[in-house]
Amino acid sequence: MSIKTSVIGFPRIGALRELKFAEEKYFKGEISADELKALARQLRIKHLNLQKNIDFIPSNDFSFYDNLLDTAVLFNIIPKRYKQLELSPLDTYFAVARGYQGKKGDVKALAMKKWFNTNYHYIVPEFEDDTKIELCGTKPFDEFIEARENGVDTVPTLIGPFTLLKLIRFTGSKTVNDVKKEIAKAYKAVLAEFAVLGAQWISLAEPYLVTDLDPNDIALLKEVYQYLLDGKKVKVIIQTYFGDVRDCADALADLDIDGIGLDFTEGRRSLELVNKFGKDKLIFAGVVNGKNIWKNNYEKTVGIIENIKKAGAENIVISTSCSLLHVPFTVENETKLPENVKKHFAFAKEKLTELSELKEILNNGSDTPTFAQNKALFAENRDCGDADVQKRVSAITEDMFTRLPVFEEREKLQKSVFALPLLPTTTIGSFPQTSDVKKNRAQFKKGEISSEEYIAFNKRKIKECIELQEKLGLDVLVHGEYERNDMVEYFGENLNGYIFTEKAWVQSYGTRCVKPPVIWGDISRKAPITVEWSKFAASLTQKPVKGMLTGPVTILNWSFPREDISLKQSTYQIALAIRDEVLDLEKSGIKIIQIDEAALREKLPLRKSDWYSEYLDWAIPTFRLVHSGAAADTQIHTHMCYSEFKDIIKAIDDMDADVITFEASRSDLQLLDTLKENNFKTEVGPGVYDIHSPRVPAVDEIENALRKMLSKLDRQKLWVNPDCGLKTRGTEETVKSLENMVKAAKIIRGE
Ligand code: GLN
Ligand code: ZN
Repeated sequence: MSIKTSVIGFPRIGALRELKFAEEKYFKGEISADELKALARQLRIKHLNLQKNIDFIPSNDFSFYDNLLDTAVLFNIIPKRYKQLELSPLDTYFAVARGYQGKKGDVKALAMKKWFNTNYHYIVPEFEDDTKIELCGTKPFDEFIEARENGVDTVPTLIGPFTLLKLIRFTGSKTVNDVKKEIAKAYKAVLAEFAVLGAQWISLAEPYLVTDLDPNDIALLKEVYQYLLDGKKVKVIIQTYFGDVRDCADALADLDIDGIGLDFTEGRRSLELVNKFGKDKLIFAGVVNGKNIWKNNYEKTVGIIENIKKAGAENIVISTSCSLLHVPFTVENETKLPENVKKHFAFAKEKLTELSELKEILNNGSDTPTFAQNKALFAENRDCGDADVQKRVSAITEDMFTRLPVFEEREKLQKSVFALPLLPTTTIGSFPQTSDVKKNRAQFKKGEISSEEYIAFNKRKIKECIELQEKLGLDVLVHGEYERNDMVEYFGENLNGYIFTEKAWVQSYGTRCVKPPVIWGDISRKAPITVEWSKFAASLTQKPVKGMLTGPVTILNWSFPREDISLKQSTYQIALAIRDEVLDLEKSGIKIIQIDEAALREKLPLRKSDWYSEYLDWAIPTFRLVHSGAAADTQIHTHMCYSEFKDIIKAIDDMDADVITFEASRSDLQLLDTLKENNFKTEVGPGVYDIHSPRVPAVDEIENALRKMLSKLDRQKLWVNPDCGLKTRGTEETVKSLENMVKAAKIIRGE
């Protein structure tokens, strides 16, 4: 059988984020629900038409907010508090996703979580004991019919029952076992309905199958699927992505499914598993990367397909590796990038062309012009190398990963040098980015004000900020980060090797999109980046001012990485650039330097067995590479967002920073026990109040938080700081909150 093509999902937000803007208008009451729905329909049809050359085109990949939420809502898994608002179905859906505050009540949104190892966030469905599972929506059917009316027979796609069951949060006493049967029944009803509608195929997305699974999970998988597949009248694909299905391949092979989607970009063992499916199931081979923006290397892909055939696959469909939701829409909207850069990029729309070209090559022989063109592209030197950078990286020696003297000695020395009070107070770096701050930056970018004016304004802000912190009585001050839009973009703009796009937005959650910068080439520092600002701030006070940098792992994790060299190599390059910045700050008298690794935990591999070998084994040493050159009496801080590092606590301690601050106020401080149990050596500053709310914490509230911390931690090791994100707050609440924080610290010190 000849090879066909398939797409797992297409970006629904629109080429120019049309869906985002329409939804935001709807939220503000500027357009009606019907207008919003009409636009959504237009977008769906437009996207459908773009995919017309694809053989397996998805439907129901559209969503107003999130596909997992769509699936939960389809099955009536909606907490009562939202239903009680008695809103329209669309508004109930939005209330669950974003919260509702209005005439009918006041309800917070459901929680959001990172979707596997991507930067996309899904809504965590909540299941209450009296939730009654039933097929109560029509979205998948409507969108299937809509596509057919537009001349396309699609493959309806839904998040599958296993992934849904694993991601649901049970808020009552029920568990997965109490609801699995009902869930399987509900999916069965979906299959039956699609059979009536004349659908040929249906695809159930099961990314959870690429994680570590235990025997109970396998049993659950079998039970649910055996039930729902029994007597089916449509062909079923189980679509996996973000890794390989090593733990459940046998169970999957035994199921009466017609197709299996395997990821050959992230699934390191996918090839070994092909023979389990090859004979009787259609193999959907994820070979076009749905997570990165580079052109596909056709020669490599043809090689992969040959290997899949050799492994016994008879019927192959080439596919995206995951939904194209995770890449920007089209390169066509990039007007400023030179052609020789753009020709290396393939965003969602271009990946469709790649699938068609690959199909042609695979079916009609390898002498097509597109194959020759693609080979030429990869044979070409991409003009992204920098011999000096490469030389520096290869000259990195083992000792550069170790800071000396050891922590204990440094700690002793630093206590005497800085002579800070017990429970020193500080903040995480930024101060409120009021509209004047943003305006100053925007005007400077547009060339409306001179660089002198821009700098003078920021210096005034820094001066105010230092004066404020002195007045508040903070011990370690910051300059306020007024020059920064975003902690990664700012550094990217000041590093060689980075490229910035205009319209390459990727959905992060709901209507929110991010525009990650692209690592194009070897990275180096153009010139000192932060030194002047920090030096200026330090000149205004006798107190220590903390220099503020973003760490290499976070810079990498929030960018589109290169594929021609390893992540580790790229990160080393960034680390050397930031290392230079550390040393320059030190030279100019900045003796406390914070290196933010906000996103360090984000790219932790999905499988525990890969945590160290695939990631932490290089990510943690890379952080040390940044600060190992610092003198013993320079104090290195780091900061991480979220405190979910219970499982990797040793690795965090191995970063060998002198102080770590982290976001903690919303967690139950369980982490403190973990710190204690593991003899955590690094000094710690768990955030003492929540920054995400305009609420001002009372003094005794903070005192209590501190007392709790002190019951678990050595008082010599505890720092006092808020959570991160002051830049998103207003000035007034920030001042009051910090005032209370300092008061609380002083009271406890007095005791
Ligand atoms: N220094 C940064 C700030 O305070 C840290 C941001 C973050 O934690 N994401 O804004
Ligand atoms: Zn943070």
